[in-house]
Amino acid sequence: MSLLPILLHPDPRLKKLCVPVQSVDAETRKLADSMIETMYDAPGVGLAAPQVASDARIFVMDCTDSESDNQPLVLINPEIISVSEELNTYSEGCLSLPDLFEDVERPKQVRMSFLDIDGKQHNELFDGLWATCAQHELDHLNGVLFIDHLSRMKRSMMTKKMVKLKKELALS
Ligand SMILES: [Zn+2]
Repeated sequence: MSLLPILLHPDPRLKKLCVPVQSVDAETRKLADSMIETMYDAPGVGLAAPQVASDARIFVMDCTDSESDNQPLVLINPEIISVSEELNTYSEGCLSLPDLFEDVERPKQVRMSFLDIDGKQHNELFDGLWATCAQHELDHLNGVLFIDHLSRMKRSMMTKKMVKLKKELALS
């Protein structure tokens, strides 16, 4: 396991459509383990493969509160089966846009199918923060960032902030 560098927006690798994992093997497990470690280290509640420069359809998440034991979930080739009509708004952030938060409205519940780290098929209903996180991370696998759900003005404002931050980081 190792910590992976997290790509920062804007980066063309964050806009790519990721490709399905053909077989869940040792390499997949190694990537997932490193992604979990990187997510906890950041710290964050979710991390998708493109954020660590991989184009595999994998994301990891753990929305348990800090008091509880860690419960990392690995979702491989996730697909949305259904979403609730009821919507929910959360102030979302993203490890690829550090310290920037905006309200995003999404379905309150989402049912997803996915493979786990043993290649076993799952079908799970996520609710509340877990549902928001799962949809945010699945978006990443389709090259979509949470700022793509915002107005063009907000998106360009946040992108400008990120360009400035990346310049500062490059100089330091
Ligand atoms: Zn994100």
